[in-house]
Amino acid sequence: MEFVLDSHSHTFMSGHAYNTVQEMALAARELGLKALAITEHAPTIPGTCMPIYFTNFHVIDRFMYGIELLMGVELNIVDYQGGLDLPSAGLRKIDVGIASIHPNVGNGERYPAYVPGDVKENTRAFLGAMESPDVDIIGHPDDPRVPVDYEALARGARDCHVLLELNASSLHPLNVRGKGGAAENMKKMLDCCQRYGTHVVVSSDAHCACAIGKFEKIEAILAEAHFPEELVVNRDLELYKSFLHRFQG
Ligand SMILES: [Zn+2]
Ligand SMILES: [Zn+2]
Repeated sequence: MEFVLDSHSHTFMSGHAYNTVQEMALAARELGLKALAITEHAPTIPGTCMPIYFTNFHVIDRFMYGIELLMGVELNIVDYQGGLDLPSAGLRKIDVGIASIHPNVGNGERYPAYVPGDVKENTRAFLGAMESPDVDIIGHPDDPRVPVDYEALARGARDCHVLLELNASSLHPLNVRGKGGAAENMKKMLDCCQRYGTHVVVSSDAHCACAIGKFEKIEAILAEAHFPEELVVNRDLELYKSFLHRFQG
């Protein structure tokens, strides 16, 4: 399958990533992609952008070096109802909204957004976030520290017309999510998505330009699961956009 887009990446504006928008766009062009989403962390993550950053996207040319740029946000889910850390009023200009859980697992100030609950609470948090008009994608729902009911997640995503993400960064050997079994969770999720006809999006979650479009490990998981190509939106930019509120009528 040809991947034409990467749907989740961070520039130095996120505070713990290292390249500029231009450098990211150039890297995407070198890989032959058509589109790249820049999705900085919302303000609960220390050192990231202020809320005003997300209100000024009209100044950015959406085509750079032949790459279509989608300017978005990675929102934090902050409670078991799916509450988010930026108000809707500040997100009218975003192209793509990802909602993720960055759990506080006792590592001090680093990820203060969400204390992991039980399966029911975590699942409810994701399902609640899906109902927001600012959410198009559920980010890295593979985190072993945040156990969820993948049946309910796949059914909810299909019903809310929201994409579930396969996050390549979760499989990095040094990533906390990868160490605890993210790959196994992805397989469980894909099995449910296949049964419910739920679409998925493959993303790098690149925090440096060198990580953009590095999908080999995810491709291997998709192949092992015999996952149908039709349910992977990265093969078709228009199909991907049909899941983004910004591009819907
Ligand atoms: Zn994240
Ligand atoms: Zn991210």
